[in-house]
Amino acid sequence: MRKNRLAAWDKQFIWHPFTQHAEWEKREPLLIKSGRGMWLHESQGRRYLDGNSSLWVNVWGHNHGELNRALKKQIDRIAHSTFLGLTHEPAIQLAKRLIALAPKGLTRVFYSDNGSTAVEVALKMAYQYWQLQGKKKKTRFVSLKEGYHGDTLGSVSVGGIDLFHQRFRRLLFKGWTVDPFNPKAASIDQILRQHHARTAAVVMEPLIQGASGMRVMPRGYLKEVETLCRRYGVLLIVDEVATGFGRTGTMFAVEQEKVHPDFLCVAKSLTGGYLPLAATLATEQVYRAFLGRYDEFKTFFHGHTYTANPLACAVAVANLDLYKKKNLLRHVQTRVVQWKDALQALAQHPHVRAVRSVGLMAGIELVKDKNRDRPYPSAQRMGLRVCDAALRHGLWLRPLGDVIVLMPPLAITKDELDFLLRGIAQSINDATHPYAFHP
Ligand SMILES: *Cc1c(COP(=O)(O)O)cnc(C)c1O
Repeated sequence: MRKNRLAAWDKQFIWHPFTQHAEWEKREPLLIKSGRGMWLHESQGRRYLDGNSSLWVNVWGHNHGELNRALKKQIDRIAHSTFLGLTHEPAIQLAKRLIALAPKGLTRVFYSDNGSTAVEVALKMAYQYWQLQGKKKKTRFVSLKEGYHGDTLGSVSVGGIDLFHQRFRRLLFKGWTVDPFNPKAASIDQILRQHHARTAAVVMEPLIQGASGMRVMPRGYLKEVETLCRRYGVLLIVDEVATGFGRTGTMFAVEQEKVHPDFLCVAKSLTGGYLPLAATLATEQVYRAFLGRYDEFKTFFHGHTYTANPLACAVAVANLDLYKKKNLLRHVQTRVVQWKDALQALAQHPHVRAVRSVGLMAGIELVKDKNRDRPYPSAQRMGLRVCDAALRHGLWLRPLGDVIVLMPPLAITKDELDFLLRGIAQSINDATHPYAFHP
């Protein structure tokens, strides 16, 4: 099919996520035809390095032989059967692997389809857990300012990004917010001391808040939250949808502060970036609270039609097996060392306010006037301009406002990472240059 025709139909029929369509309709869309390794191939034959892992999911690159084989093998058996009343090998094998990889104490896997649902499940389980314990007042959640947990209403209720979430405030359930970056705001200790009797759980991203612009949290904060949760009898939900499976250098970010959450939410990298699949891991203590005779109605009445889809589970099993076989975490450590210097050099750029990173997740925050700490006016769309410039350097990137996100597939080679780092430096120069001399 000709590209022009497809582009016209896209503009006629489609509504894209997180997209201002008045702008989209004026632009020529990039139409992706195929992928190979780290590269996305578009319809005109150009290729771009996938600098954000196709939105933080891809691990091994595209069109990977072993993942393809696992998928083909499963599709010749069965594509889908329900998980309500039936079970199957791919989901069982995957659950066993997840429990082996996860921090001690997590013993049960509840499947769903995406990061938002993984968080919804944890919220509902935590709430129901306390109901079943007779602690009927523990109905609320403590979440973090600038946190992000997905776009369904439950996960938006515990989200803290005003731009995305404020509009929907009146549809959401109430809770308490803490801000780890603001010493003047009420601390997590104060909030829990005051409200623990009405709090079911604390929900947070570990070490780094992704969607709000790669904000690296104060060291030890996660551990402090865990300690306080234990002290005040509040459950801890850790959202590793972005950080999970090696993005921060360890299999899970919680390992870096030796934290053992009551719930661990995973999704994005679980299938290596192939298919939508998520899991909420829970402790035996939580699981046991839901056991009883049917007519006690302790059952967790929640599930999605495609829960534990066998194709997705089969490719996830193959993905996790490759981590071990290829010693991926060691490879990631090497890449992290490799990019440290380049990221530090970028931080010196006159239009870079800060570079923040954990593992192979980084955010480069642009600024109009570094000395006076003045941001670019949002109408200038500087983040987007840098990413447009990056296309000319063979990179596909997507900004979060004026923060440029670098989050390459974990298996990226040395040369490919150098290409990415060179390209981003040039792109920032290209886009900010005209303004550097006209303050
Ligand atoms: C992306 C993300 C989500 C939402 O995942 P979806 O699959 O987009 O629903 C939740 N939490 C975190 C930390 C994320 O980065």
